[in-house]
Amino acid sequence: MIRKKTRQVQVGGVMIGGEAPISVQSMNTTDTADIAATLAQIKELAEAGCELTRLAVPDATAASALGEICRFSILPIIADIHFDYRLALAAIKNGVNGLRINPGNLRDQEGLVQIAAAARKRRIPIRVGVNSGSLDRRMIEYYGGITAEAMAHSALAAARRLEETGFEDICLSVKASDPGLTISSYRLLSQLTDYPLHLGVTEAGTAWEGTIRSAVGIGTLLAEGIGDTIRVSLTADPCEEVKAGYAILRALNLRQRGAVLVSCPTCGRTQVDMLKLVKEVETRLIKINTPLTVAVMGCIVNGPGEARAADIGLAGGQGEFVLFKKGEIICKLSEDEAVDALFSEIEKMEQESGEQAQ
Ligand code: SF4
Repeated sequence: MIRKKTRQVQVGGVMIGGEAPISVQSMNTTDTADIAATLAQIKELAEAGCELTRLAVPDATAASALGEICRFSILPIIADIHFDYRLALAAIKNGVNGLRINPGNLRDQEGLVQIAAAARKRRIPIRVGVNSGSLDRRMIEYYGGITAEAMAHSALAAARRLEETGFEDICLSVKASDPGLTISSYRLLSQLTDYPLHLGVTEAGTAWEGTIRSAVGIGTLLAEGIGDTIRVSLTADPCEEVKAGYAILRALNLRQRGAVLVSCPTCGRTQVDMLKLVKEVETRLIKINTPLTVAVMGCIVNGPGEARAADIGLAGGQGEFVLFKKGEIICKLSEDEAVDALFSEIEKMEQESGEQAQ
């Protein structure tokens, strides 16, 4: 997989584009004006592996809350601005690390000039975030609908308006709720620009459906070398977005954070309660940051092979499991003991990898 070479921008301490790893971002669901709740959710997101988060700035109260949030946040903060350029100016003044503006609803050129000047002074980048649900009407009319051309050229036109002010610290996105339109829009945009691209399928849906739609949209583009940072948009806890984001990157071997769980689909041979066990393993793996492959298999057909090939694995038998670590059998376990024994070994592996990293 050859990644398209893009320019680089920096949001807080996170580099986006160029040779930088593809970063995973999310968006808080808290009311930005509620500073304590917002900071608590930022902490949860950071623990889940989120690298950047975006906050809605619908009004002046939210914009002024950004001062304290930015002071205490452990993640770089991107202010999400629609309609009113003055909210962008207030967000910049209050210390945000990046801005997202929507060219579909922020068309005031004088306002844009002021935003660009303030962002340049604070050295923060601006993402021009086109969204199929709020695409500039003039683009829709000119291109005869919400098309890839309309999406890509809307982003480029806004980038040009920023360039005219001398501002080029830009990132672009062209998200549609339809994965097919998302893919064609980004493909076209990637051919036309070398600005870094933020990928996402917008309003993708619930954790289940939305993860699949995002994996198709974002995954297809990443597999073609397109994209520098990703956000999975789900109607769910934003930590689920982060989890899904890393799963997409891991599937393409682009990032290795956290564990890959290999589990068999079960069949008539299964003689252990695999569904319950795999669910518990999946839940407990969320807290594991070390890149590991963990196998949980139902029987002796593929179980020993997969468990041996993984960093650590359980292979089921008749009401019992064999625990493998780095290809070697460690012990036999009853169904009740299996998960705790697996995690006691995983925790040791986390500790060892932490010591090696120091
Ligand atoms: S590993 Fe065994 S239990 Fe699991 S699907 Fe394969 S044959 Fe069935």
